[in-house]
Amino acid sequence: MNLENFKETIQKLKKEKDAFILAHYYQRPEIQKVADFIGDSLELSRMCTNIEQKIVVFCGVYFMAEIAKILAPDKKVLIPYRNAGCLLADMAIKEELEKAKKEHPDAKVVAYVNTYAEIKALSNVICTSANAKEVMQKVKADKIIFVPDKNLAAYHAKSLEKEVILWDGYCPVHNRITWDSIERVKQKHPDAVVIVHPECPPEVTERADFVGSTSQLVKFVKESPHEKFIVGTEEGTLFKMKKEAPNKKLLLPDPIPLCDQMKMITPERLIRCLEEEIYEVEIEQETAEKAKAAIEAMFRL
Ligand code: SF4
Repeated sequence: MNLENFKETIQKLKKEKDAFILAHYYQRPEIQKVADFIGDSLELSRMCTNIEQKIVVFCGVYFMAEIAKILAPDKKVLIPYRNAGCLLADMAIKEELEKAKKEHPDAKVVAYVNTYAEIKALSNVICTSANAKEVMQKVKADKIIFVPDKNLAAYHAKSLEKEVILWDGYCPVHNRITWDSIERVKQKHPDAVVIVHPECPPEVTERADFVGSTSQLVKFVKESPHEKFIVGTEEGTLFKMKKEAPNKKLLLPDPIPLCDQMKMITPERLIRCLEEEIYEVEIEQETAEKAKAAIEAMFRL
């Protein structure tokens, strides 16, 4: 199916089903082209509470669709591919977090948004890569259990006067961005500015020219006087960057960081999802309520 036919089919189905499509920045370009709203985790969570349509289709990984359901429980929330998971979220195990809470009863749990609802439900507050430092700073505790991304937590912990207990979790896509993978590109483009996501390992965040969440990286490229950038994050981000800053030269590390879980949402699966109204996200009520309280705590902070 060509892009024009795909766009037409989706327009028709959205109208027929009264549906709204959300897409994460890491989605395939053709999915981003038909989405009603594109954003990073924080922008998408905020958007979830402002949707009028009956059906919300979440083009992203499963924990993201769960957030939409938690924040908009009256909507029918669908994900085009039920098994699109997040390898980082998989690293936070409920029983292990319960154990850590018992071992550190004086600590507050700050959970990264990349966690499933059952982990959010055990947490005091949620954060995203855009607001992690602020949340960790403002949460009323001198000791924090940060779950599950150790790179993001370590990056911000350096500048906080708090004890931060790091979880042994990481995003395999960002953790594979080594300084060597950037250096290979930098050698050919020594004038390029290196900008990276805080999920990258310390050897990268310590040497980069700028570290920021996906939306902060997009803003940086748009507003920077520089012309050329090596972008250390998932390759899908370049779609939005090119739109926002069409004259800038954007390069990726070698090898290219690619999240195959995010790419599991395809045009065919999106059409089928709308046509058949599959796969619906459901969360047990008590878990959803506790997870919602932790998300709302983030918005308050
Ligand atoms: S890029 Fe990493 S954190 Fe994001 S969805 Fe993929 S595995 Fe999860």
